[in-house]
Amino acid sequence: MLRRKSVAVDFCLNRAAECEKLGELAPDRTTKTRYRKLSANWLRLARSASFTDRLEAHLSAEPWIASPFHSKARKLKVIESPRTGHVIDAPPPIVASDQSNHYLCGHCGTLLVIADDDQLHGLVVRCRECGSYNAVDT
Ligand SMILES: [Zn+2]
Repeated sequence: MLRRKSVAVDFCLNRAAECEKLGELAPDRTTKTRYRKLSANWLRLARSASFTDRLEAHLSAEPWIASPFHSKARKLKVIESPRTGHVIDAPPPIVASDQSNHYLCGHCGTLLVIADDDQLHGLVVRCRECGSYNAVDT
C-alpha cells in the first residue's frame, strides 16, 4: 500500500532534525543533552502521528459501503416483513467469514453480511441505512 507522510509527521520529523542540528552546534554538554532529548521527543511524536495516520487510513478503508469493483458482491432479496421473529441489524456488517462473499442490501446496496457460500440460511437482516428487511441465504 502506498502511503504518504502527513503534514503532522513531516512537521515532527523536521523539528527532530532541527533539534539534532542545534544539539551539534551547542557550546556545552547540558545544552547538547537538552536538544538531544527534545529531538527524541519529536521523533516519538512523529511515530505517534504516523500511527494515527495508519489507523485512520485503515478505518476509512473498511468496506462499509459496497464497492462496485468487488467481484463477489451480491444483492440480498428484500422482503416485506420478517417471517421469523429474529432480526439482526446491520451495518456494521455481520461477518461470518473473512474475505468471502459480500452480501449487499437489496434496496440501497449497503454491505450487510460477509459470508461463504452455503454458510447462512433463514437469517433476516434489517438495513440500518434504509430500513429494508433482507432475507439472507448464502
Ligand atoms: Zn439498505
